[in-house]
Amino acid sequence: MNFTDFNFDARLLEGIQASNYETATPVQAQVIPHILAGKDIIASAQTGTGKTAAFLLPLINRILGENNDPTSITAMVIVPTRELAIQIAQHLEGLSYFTSISSIAVYGGGDGNAFVQEKKALSMGADIVVCTPGKMMSHIKMGYVKLDHLKYLVLDEADRMLDMGFYDDINFIIKHLPAKRQNLLFSATMPPKIRALAKSILQQPEEVNI
Ligand code: AMP
Repeated sequence: MNFTDFNFDARLLEGIQASNYETATPVQAQVIPHILAGKDIIASAQTGTGKTAAFLLPLINRILGENNDPTSITAMVIVPTRELAIQIAQHLEGLSYFTSISSIAVYGGGDGNAFVQEKKALSMGADIVVCTPGKMMSHIKMGYVKLDHLKYLVLDEADRMLDMGFYDDINFIIKHLPAKRQNLLFSATMPPKIRALAKSILQQPEEVNI
């Protein structure tokens, strides 16, 4: 499947071309149309399948077509580790390079300075925030993160997040989000605890297994 088949914004297609992606991977071909149609998703996909672009591309495309409040956060991508947050933020920068999409990565930095920088960025707002659960929860508790216009929530590597003990942090964050939003859950494995999490978060999801 070619990326031109998705009817993407020309600026996004430029980013895809610059990233040297020629055809969509199987997970992308299956997931992208559902996300563009506004559906919730539960997808089992391993790292290396192109799962990151499978949610980033349609998210970017949808946000480009919207008139969102620039001081709020429109999409939140929650990931288990700092390394993954950095990697996804870089991926996002590359794919959205020719667009006006703004993004922030929130994962703490080991010193207080990183927190202050993140606080500043979060206070100003962004289209897409990529974050680890604990750090995001700390920022929300401080009261300056504007989540009332959030439309998209992505949980990436959900099984790893639960294994790392982030269940309560994730639920804390979700309680602060508007009830009406699109939810995308990606997980390498689908144990019962992931099914239970999915049931509590997703609404009539499309299921994709790669
Ligand atoms: P991921 O599974 O998201 O970690 O992606 C694995 C690697 O595949 C990353 O380096 C991506 O940049 C790359 N990638 C994602 N989608 C495509 C595509 N359609 N064509 C070529 N490479 C891709």
